[in-house]
Amino acid sequence: MPRRPTSSRECARALWLLGLQAPVTADELTAAYRARISQAHPDRHAGSGAREQAANTLTRALNDARGVVAEWIGSGREWPRAPAAAANATRPAAQPRPASAPAAPAPVCRRTGLRAGDLVRVWPYDGDARAVAGTIVAGRYAPAWVVLEDGAEVPAERVRLAAFACPVCGICAGPVVEHPVLRPCPDCLVDLRRLERHAAEAARVRSAIEARAQAGMAAADGLGDERLAERARDRRGWARRLRSAPAEDLHAALVSAFTNAFDRWAA
Ligand SMILES: [Zn+2]
Repeated sequence: MPRRPTSSRECARALWLLGLQAPVTADELTAAYRARISQAHPDRHAGSGAREQAANTLTRALNDARGVVAEWIGSGREWPRAPAAAANATRPAAQPRPASAPAAPAPVCRRTGLRAGDLVRVWPYDGDARAVAGTIVAGRYAPAWVVLEDGAEVPAERVRLAAFACPVCGICAGPVVEHPVLRPCPDCLVDLRRLERHAAEAARVRSAIEARAQAGMAAADGLGDERLAERARDRRGWARRLRSAPAEDLHAALVSAFTNAFDRWAA
């Protein structure tokens, strides 16, 4: 079936969904796909409409992702830049984009949930918003560093997203801008990974979302931004309605919300 060539943005997203980091071999792709799909297969969730629908969404996304990465391996093209490599190379602010590269959003750092171009504020979080150039993650247990476009390197725990709202939990941050970035917050990205591996985390994740929604309402009130406040209220209501959901329905509802939000953001 002829289709347009895959973009590096699609490839980066597919790698993220499958929990892979480039470069990837065909065997690694198969193993990652099997591990993910065994959790998501709709047959496991037959009988519950909501669960089946969420499982279908995730299965479709995983199937697409496998196709994209398989095609990428077959094409022999250069892999999308990993965030760590991007930061370690030259400062992207001064780095001209190769003429052949599509204007794709940078890959998402799996540790920090940040990607190049994100606006952040640095501790004590009251200065101007600054753009992220990349992240440096030396190892699983090593601290992560965020590289800013002005060349500064800051520990990841001293960096907070700015001018954004999370469509899943409603957490948000100033400064107030006309169109805040609508993106899953780093905590929600981490929670999605947890939920994919451990369905039993669903209740804990739900109450964390409710707490973040509450914090989002307070932040929006502090900023005096009624639209952000309304979004956070809406998310708190959603999280509260899920309090009484059966465990498996809760898991499905959360995964579905995370996956949809991630898809819209990455698209
Ligand atoms: Zn969130």
